[in-house]
Amino acid sequence: MPRTISLPVIEAKKPQTPAASPLMKPEGRVLATLEDDGRRRWLRPKPSPGAWWRRRVVVAWALIALYTVVPWIKVAGMPMVLLDVVDRKFVFFGSVFRPTETLLFGVLFLSVFTGFFLLTALFGRVWCGWACPQTVYMEFVYRPIERAFLGRGYTSTKHAVSAWRHVAMYAAFLVVSAHLANTLLAWFVGADRLTDWIFASSPAKHPAAFAVFAGVTLLMMFDFAFFREQLCSLVCPYGRFQSALLDRDSLVVGYDRKRGEPRGRKDRHVHADGACEGKCGCDGRGGCGSGGGCDGAHEQKRGDCVDCKMCVQTCPAGIDIRDGMQLECIACTQCIDACDSVMTKLGRPTGLVRYTSQASLEDAPVRGPRKRVRARLVVYPAMLAVLLGVATFLLATRESAAVSVLRTQGTPYVLREAGTDREIVESFVRMRIDNRTRDPKVYLVTGGDGVQLVREERVEVAGDASREIDVLVTSKPSSFDRGRRDVTLHVDEQGGASKTFHGHAATAVIGPLVIRPLATEGSAR
Ligand code: SF4
Ligand code: SF4
Repeated sequence: MPRTISLPVIEAKKPQTPAASPLMKPEGRVLATLEDDGRRRWLRPKPSPGAWWRRRVVVAWALIALYTVVPWIKVAGMPMVLLDVVDRKFVFFGSVFRPTETLLFGVLFLSVFTGFFLLTALFGRVWCGWACPQTVYMEFVYRPIERAFLGRGYTSTKHAVSAWRHVAMYAAFLVVSAHLANTLLAWFVGADRLTDWIFASSPAKHPAAFAVFAGVTLLMMFDFAFFREQLCSLVCPYGRFQSALLDRDSLVVGYDRKRGEPRGRKDRHVHADGACEGKCGCDGRGGCGSGGGCDGAHEQKRGDCVDCKMCVQTCPAGIDIRDGMQLECIACTQCIDACDSVMTKLGRPTGLVRYTSQASLEDAPVRGPRKRVRARLVVYPAMLAVLLGVATFLLATRESAAVSVLRTQGTPYVLREAGTDREIVESFVRMRIDNRTRDPKVYLVTGGDGVQLVREERVEVAGDASREIDVLVTSKPSSFDRGRRDVTLHVDEQGGASKTFHGHAATAVIGPLVIRPLATEGSAR
């Protein structure tokens, strides 16, 4: 008889949606821009046009104007600022700097970082809320455009908007993004060159620049139309450094929990279960509501926060300032304006949400005003002063030209008349001369002490330009120590007025390691 084997029946499990699975459900909101089920939570903050908002409008439009016009401003015939990465040339206020000035750039770079540290220790994320291009353009250009096209009810998810309004809004975004991309390009290639590319010749003749322009426009569209506030919380490293850069006395936008809590609209008669033992006429479980013959012994007064959530609705980061300091907060002050207007309407003092410090919020009224002298407020300014002092010194002693030795390419030396008593070594030194003035200059390259050149080099270098040359140094083989010989070459500006350049470049040339009769090393001609 054939045996029958009964197999256990495996029932297909129903796929569980993240929302249905208790394991998958997050305990709280993971990100302000994510719904619990992982979908994007679109933020449509309601503007709160209070006193801080008006100040920010002035600052924002001044910065936008600055960003737009700086590439067009000339100082002594040169762009005020030009960051020409392709030609490795940076112009600031009419002076040309090249990446070879590493010490100066290093010091300036450190100064900027230290300045940011100091600014953050003093004023918290004032850069984020007031001056960062992301915030400035998002809050004062793109969001106003959005509000204008989507209408007054745009903050509501139920607000129906016709398709053409969306199309028109994205078209406006595209125009602004193209303008932004053009302006950005002008910072890097110069306004004159950009104008020439656009109007005098076809953009098709400059495909690389056009590709950069198109790419930056799309990037702006992606950022300001879609990615938005997520850039601050997910991408920008500055937000992540917050905890290290802020201390308890740094200026932050904060909610006065002591004054605001317990939040609610009306004072309520509340007490712990059984606390009143029914003496007030309630059932002793806190269920009596207000009144009812209560003697008020258990009455709990509400704080000043009426829980209107205006501060939440206006927040461009999508957070609730009443939950404490959060990474996403960019200190934009919109919640201050929103809350102040509510407090004013209720006839209560403003400042429930205000510029303050963590220490003041936690310790007040014991602690009093913000502590102004702190270790980092001594260390950062001291560092900044030293760095700016060094930068000033480097700028003040900056020469009109610079000489540097580059890596030699090809054969490092040639042995001539090898095996004879007239044997000499010709070594190559590759030099670069940077003319930092606007005028063309002629420089004479000569040998230093004991250094013979095959010929002295006269080098012409155009204004604000660099030139690389090969200098041929002749030496006796015996002058090399283990295949190396230290040489110094002198570069002197020819003619010109009083302040002519005299510089030198020290390097080591390569020569033969071992000299054998009738034998050559390197290549002999
Ligand atoms: S919490 Fe207040 S200050 Fe912070 S981002 Fe939101 S509105 Fe701006
Ligand atoms: S705006 Fe002021 S009163 Fe209203 S919820 Fe926010 S903190 Fe409370």
